[in-house]
Order: sequence, then structure tokens, then C-alpha cells
Amino acid sequence: MSDRRIAIRRVRPSQQRARPADSAALGFGRYFSDHFFATEFDRPNGWHLTRIEPMRMLQIDPAAICLHYGQEVFEGLKAYRGADDGIYLFRWRKNAERLQKSCKRLIMECVDEEFFGRAIKSLVLLDREWIPRDPSCSLYIRPTLIATDPFLGVRPGDEYAFYVIVGPVGPYYPEGFRPIRIWVSEEDVRAVRGGLGEAKTAANYAHSLCAQKKATTLGYAQVLWLDAIEHKWVEEVGTMNIFFVLRDEVVTPPLAGTILPGVTRDSVLALCRHWGMTVRERPIGIAEVIDAARSGELKECFGTGTAAVIAPVGVLAYQGRDVQVHDNTVGPVARRLYETLTRIQRGEEPDPFGWVERIDRTDLEELALSQV
Ligand SMILES: *Cc1c(COP(=O)(O)O)cnc(C)c1O
Repeated sequence: MSDRRIAIRRVRPSQQRARPADSAALGFGRYFSDHFFATEFDRPNGWHLTRIEPMRMLQIDPAAICLHYGQEVFEGLKAYRGADDGIYLFRWRKNAERLQKSCKRLIMECVDEEFFGRAIKSLVLLDREWIPRDPSCSLYIRPTLIATDPFLGVRPGDEYAFYVIVGPVGPYYPEGFRPIRIWVSEEDVRAVRGGLGEAKTAANYAHSLCAQKKATTLGYAQVLWLDAIEHKWVEEVGTMNIFFVLRDEVVTPPLAGTILPGVTRDSVLALCRHWGMTVRERPIGIAEVIDAARSGELKECFGTGTAAVIAPVGVLAYQGRDVQVHDNTVGPVARRLYETLTRIQRGEEPDPFGWVERIDRTDLEELALSQV
């Protein structure tokens, strides 16, 4: 049995957190709103203690399974403020679905799609004043699910917490929409078939830190991962999926078990097909990419993810040598995708796919069902 009413306890006006005034200085992941959503699971009660309350420290047993054996999964999506002052969500059902898949992979209990939707919508509506009005900013939403039983031993948890935090994020490119430099990792790998690569889980990031540190030390923004077996096939970039415009085709590696199935990746594929471009999901070797960059057949390369939306790649470093893409400037496909996606996300452009949902403050009462 589950009690899904959301008890809302609002922050006292005197305890409201200061909202950063300067949207250019927001950065990413540094500020959080006044409230958070949380609900807890155990076998006798199902999901219960469902609430939104003022932001505070979590109480967690030092023996909690998530802290020792890594049963943790998360999601990342955004709420946008449109030019009409409306509040928009983009394809949140895809995130709910992916959270369920991640949970399944790590044998964790999960919340269903409807519950996930009510959690994020009610929190976003309650903290709507935290959604920046600057069109280059948005409210980042971070749903997280952890195993909380106090038990030292490797087995799936019986107790879980699902919580959602939100915070304003600034333009991903404070200096404007410019290409990034990426470094191809020849030794470290991100995921192997049969591993966790498809799940959005902390573990995938834990072991990416080493290679990321090497890349940063050498002056590159992110790591491009190759497959774990042959060290030959392109997989994805640090926190993004990767695309190439090769001659007149848009190419991205297929989802074959080691790559995170990005919502932005899926949206880019749909938009390119909608525009009549030739799109291929096929294995692509790093040798082919580098040769094509040298011969000029590689027209563009860009990463895709919720945070940056589109991240054009201007330099690829492989085997100690830099090769430029599109003269280290933003290409037309990357620019068109960036502009179209960000306009659809703000309800400013026709949405032929039914991707955006406008949510209204009057929905809050109905979503929460109970307030204290
Ligand atoms: C989240 C994530 C992505 C991008 O997914 P989106 O749904 O587009 O934000 C890509 N790769 C990794 C490793 C990720 O964690």
C-alpha cells in the first residue's frame, strides 16, 4: 500500500534562501531552491512519508547501503520559463522511463511515471520563482533514488528514498556558444557490455574521474570514450552523447548496451529526420573520424545532453595530436539544432512531436492533494 498524497510544508518567509540576482554568475549545480521533494519506501508500507519540505540536510544512517555499495541512480532534466512567462517541461516521461530502467539494472525499487511526474511538477510549481526569466537560463531538476537500509553486506536494499532537488542554472556557455576541445581516452574506459553503461548511476561517474582529470590537465574540456574491448569504436563524451556530420550524413553510435540513452540524443535524431537529413545510428571508429577530419569530410562534431543541449566540438585530441573540426567554429547543423531545441523547450516554436508540457500554478493543489 502506498500513500501518495504530498504533504507540503512551506519555508517561512524569514528562512527563504537568497536568490542569485546575476544570472550570468549562476554557473551549473551550485544553487538550490527553498524546498525539496522526498518520499520513502519500505516493504511493509510501500512509498510513504511523501512530502515537500524546506531544504535541509538529509538524515541517513552511516551504514546505508548506497554509501557503501553504490545503489544510487539519478536523472537530470530542466524546467524552462517561456517568453509568455509560462513554465515548460520537456519530455519528462522519458526521464521517468529511464529512471525505471536504471533502477531495474541496479535491482532497486522505483517510482512509477505518474508519481515521478507529480513529484517534479509540484516542486517546480512551488518553487516557480526560482526559474530564471533570462532565456539562457533554466531550472535544473535532479531526481535521485538511493538504498537506505543500514546493512553492511552486498545485497539489494529493502528500503529506499526518492528525492528531488531543483536549482537555477546559468548559460552553459557564459562566453557564448563556442566549440569545446575534447580528448580521446586511449586507456581508461567508461563501460563494457554487460556493465552499467546504460544506467544513469553514480558508479559510471566515479571511475570516469581519472580520465577526466587527465583531460583537464592537458587543457581539454571533456573525455571522449572508446569501447572497452577494442579501444576503437567511439562511444560518448563525459556527460553527453556524440554526433558527427560526415559528408551529408548525421552519424551517432548505436545504443548497444554501453552508452547512456540520452533524451537530447533521441530529440536530435528525431529533428534531423524531420528535416529530411540522412541519419545513421552505426558503429563509428575513431580512425574513421580522424581521417575524415583531416580530409575535410568531417563537417561537424557535437555533443548532446540536457545541461549543454548541443556542445560543438572544435578540437579532437587523439594519440597526442590535435585535429580541428569545422575550423574550430560552430557549424550550421549544431547551431540549427541548438536554436530549434531551445526554442521548442521554451514553447516558442511549434512542437510537432508533442515534447513540451506547459504546467500551471493552479495545478499545484490538484497535484499535491494535501498541504500542511
Ligand atoms: C545524462 C547523460 C547523458 C545525456 O542524457 P540527456 O538525457 O540527453 O541529458 C549522456 N551521457 C551520460 C553518461 C549521461 O549521464
